[in-house]
Amino acid sequence: MDNNKIYMDRGSATPIDPRVLEFAHPFLKTAGNPSALHRQGLEARSAIEEARAKVADLINAEKPASIIFTSGATESNNIAIRGTAMRNIGRGKHVMGSAIEHMSVLNPLKDLTKSGFTMDLVPVDKAGMVDLAKLEELISQETVVLSIMHANNEIGTIQPIKEISKIVHEKGMYLHVDATASAGKVPIDVQDMNIDLLTLSSNDLGGPQGAGALYIKTGTRIQTVMPGGGQERGLRSGSENIFAIAGMGEAARLAKEELPVESERLKRIRDDLIRQILKNEKTFLTGHPEKRLPHHASFRFSFIEGESILLMMDFQGVQISTGSACSSKTLEASHVLLATGLTHEQAHGSMVLTLGHENKPEDVKIVAEATKKTIDRLRMLSPITQEGEEYPEEEHHH
Ligand code: PMP
Repeated sequence: MDNNKIYMDRGSATPIDPRVLEFAHPFLKTAGNPSALHRQGLEARSAIEEARAKVADLINAEKPASIIFTSGATESNNIAIRGTAMRNIGRGKHVMGSAIEHMSVLNPLKDLTKSGFTMDLVPVDKAGMVDLAKLEELISQETVVLSIMHANNEIGTIQPIKEISKIVHEKGMYLHVDATASAGKVPIDVQDMNIDLLTLSSNDLGGPQGAGALYIKTGTRIQTVMPGGGQERGLRSGSENIFAIAGMGEAARLAKEELPVESERLKRIRDDLIRQILKNEKTFLTGHPEKRLPHHASFRFSFIEGESILLMMDFQGVQISTGSACSSKTLEASHVLLATGLTHEQAHGSMVLTLGHENKPEDVKIVAEATKKTIDRLRMLSPITQEGEEYPEEEHHH
């Protein structure tokens, strides 16, 4: 990364931790097939098994064998949702998610409706918290799996997974949790939270791109969605990406070790950032004010539009996101912000800041000033403010 630039877009891509790179580098230089019995193969096998133990430790899985490696969070989400739905088809053909899930959860759920499943999405409130009463109401005898993200990548809101787990398990269905945004930022204990399936991404932990993991609780009935050579307990066939997997393991180990201190440090910087940015007029925090990821700040500004904010911040050397990084090519308003009750116009003026190791307390002043300049400038140019038109603020309902 360029030293003169401030990077606050870890949600879309996280710079690989130099310690992780050093650790995993040898596996990039010499490829080994972990299914081969010669020495090179055995070294690759032991690198994978070491990584499995480290990832299991990050989330307190009952045993390393409960972890399978995948190519990333999207693949983990697909295996979890499709694999449990198809394997338990005899129990019912109803699947659920929340309205603010990532597309890699929403689209597999939607895709199951082509195979005769019905699907329901649980609504969220203004702060992005899942409506638990509505959740209970929507679950039926037919429901097989509910997929809920631990924390949302666009608005940072953290869901009450333990409470959700209780509701889900009283009804005898499976709970899948997408922990891509939260892992390494807040503690996760799959046994204490009683989670059946949990998705992790290497890159979001500071590991290489191209690896992910899925935790599968012992006894969970699941089938493969991609038959092949039978790697990863037959659930994720295909030759393993040793470099990315070894790196993911080391990133998980470092994340667990550094989480308590680093998350407090980032929270202090983040809180200061929120205080400074909210001084601007017609500027609002999105997501939950307290129950949110410690490294995450997200805003919306009336009268202006996310893509221009991103570009103007970039000119000033600050890299941020408008929120829906993964589908930003479509320029549609974020389904997450819309689900929290915002209008299309309100949802368009969003900015998401995600902090990490490289951010320092001194960054706050620079980012706050760049933000002020950006919104003042854009509002001056905005045809909406010139006409003095105002959106109704505050009272956004469903
Ligand atoms: N889930 C969440 C919450 C995400 O933020 C993302 C994107 N980082 C994904 C899933 C998908 O991750 P990937 O594109 O690495 O598969």
